[in-house]
Amino acid sequence: MEREALLEYIRPRMPEKRYIHTIGVMETAISLAKKYGEDTKKAEIAAILHDLAKYEDEDAMRAIVRENGLDVRLLPWGSEILHGPIAAYRAEHELGIKDQDILNAMRYHTTGRAGMSRLEQIVYIADMIEPDRKYPGIELLRQTAEGDLQQAMRACIHHSISFLVTAELPIYPLSIECYNDYLGEEL
Ligand code: GDP
Ligand code: FE
Ligand code: FE
Repeated sequence: MEREALLEYIRPRMPEKRYIHTIGVMETAISLAKKYGEDTKKAEIAAILHDLAKYEDEDAMRAIVRENGLDVRLLPWGSEILHGPIAAYRAEHELGIKDQDILNAMRYHTTGRAGMSRLEQIVYIADMIEPDRKYPGIELLRQTAEGDLQQAMRACIHHSISFLVTAELPIYPLSIECYNDYLGEEL
């Protein structure tokens, strides 16, 4: 699908601020894909669609999880964790996107997971470092993303887990599996 059609699909589903974030993720993901030799069109599609479900009703999202055999571990969690898997579901069933790498990049953009593909890493990192994002430590993450994709992903998941622990927030199991995977130690 063309960029304009995808943007038209997401535009009414989110406030202006989230749309601006999405454009930033798209541009950052395309630039990372170019730098690391990944498919820029796939990066563009996954980035545009990654937050399309962010403002959906949580119970409606849980109903989709239950009725369509999505991972039942999602059920106790809120929109923060549900919106990635639901975005992938809608992209597949409403937009007819069949490419599993694009769908996985959307599905795992919040939590990461063990064994991420390069496209998944690109979308995860782009979501954290796009130009409109502001938080302590982001400059170091942006610099790391200039040099090495694997190291950038390691720095990003470390940052996310540290943030969640400091805030005493519960951590989704896939985020922990992702963190352990990037440490690269034997378990
Ligand atoms: P956004 O959708 O562009 O704002 O970014 P993300 O999809 O990466 O993250 C959405 C929200 O989920 C952010 O507030 C994260 O801090 C939060 N988040 C990410 N992983 C976890 C987790 O494992 N547990 C909890 N409780 N929140 C998480
Ligand atoms: Fe998100
Ligand atoms: Fe996002």
